[in-house]
Amino acid sequence: MKNFVKIWLCLCVLLSAAAPAHAEWVRRVTDGIMGTRITVELWAEDPAKADQAIEAVLAEMRHIDDSMSTYKPSSEVSQVNDKAANSPMPISKELFDLLTTAKEYSVITDGAFDITYASVGYLYDFRKHSRPDEAQIAKALPAIDYRHVILDPNNQTVFFSQKGVRIDLGGIAKGYAVDRGIDVLKSLGYTRAYVGAGGDSRIIGDRFGKPWVVGIRDPRKGEGNVIARIPLVDAAISTSGDYERFFEEKGVRYHHIIDPHTGHSASKVRSATVIGPYATRTDGLSKTAFVLGPEKAMEIYNRLDDIDAIIVKLDGTVVYSKGMQRAQQAH
Ligand code: ADP
Ligand code: MG
Repeated sequence: MKNFVKIWLCLCVLLSAAAPAHAEWVRRVTDGIMGTRITVELWAEDPAKADQAIEAVLAEMRHIDDSMSTYKPSSEVSQVNDKAANSPMPISKELFDLLTTAKEYSVITDGAFDITYASVGYLYDFRKHSRPDEAQIAKALPAIDYRHVILDPNNQTVFFSQKGVRIDLGGIAKGYAVDRGIDVLKSLGYTRAYVGAGGDSRIIGDRFGKPWVVGIRDPRKGEGNVIARIPLVDAAISTSGDYERFFEEKGVRYHHIIDPHTGHSASKVRSATVIGPYATRTDGLSKTAFVLGPEKAMEIYNRLDDIDAIIVKLDGTVVYSKGMQRAQQAH
């Protein structure tokens, strides 16, 4: 072989080893974790590594599902529901911190967000279209109150001050899982990514000079029909809708958000979308409008500096928080 051919071959081998892999957007959709659809999309300099990163996000979400699902009798939350009314029960730091956050949201929302809703909520089964009768609700209702959940930061324990108290993190866990997914991606060096779990999503970075665009579904039309498209960079967005898990009986719509004050399905709006810095927070706040109604909820959202909101009222009209009205006027 002539020398220059050898040199040429060597050069080719060297070049192919040194050339960066083809950078691209990588997107994966996975069903079945936390009973919902998980979407991860990221900008990957090395697509082979992106698959590993997405696996790490999904593993984190499975872990959260395993420890926080009330559908799993072995989960830490199920154990708490079994035992925490007997005596203070030591729990993991992760659960302790999330319970602390959940109580903060109860205070912010005047008790509209309350994980002890489950003290009555467990009597509903939206898949089987079954619900408690008034006597059952009246009996279980006194157990709903976030103040019954006593957290001791020194011993990292939780204690229920009453029998019959149950908690369920269904109103915050997906948002939390999204935030943890973003943490995983950030720790691996990703700077442009989207993580979504059902109605809760968070975005880091932009799409090279353009924002990400998240659609808000029309609550009375099928998937794909949107009432607004929201451009987002470095933000989280959560939508709660009365169309998610519901059944109708004699013209009444029973759905999965419960008014902690009455134990009944909370139906004061059709949908509420909250935009903020973290998905844990936007998830926790998106249920408020169902319980308090559009006016009171908007008052709370407007009071919070880091929150914007879009509410679809019962008559189908749409109301925007002050920050969103300002953004619209600026365009
Ligand atoms: P998704 O489950 O699709 O994310 P939401 O974010 O609207 O929907 O959360 C609804 C869930 O919140 C319910 O399925 C239930 O687990 C929980 N939940 C219902 N009512 C309340 C409430 N008043 N406070 C806190 N969590 C609630
Ligand atoms: Mg949610």
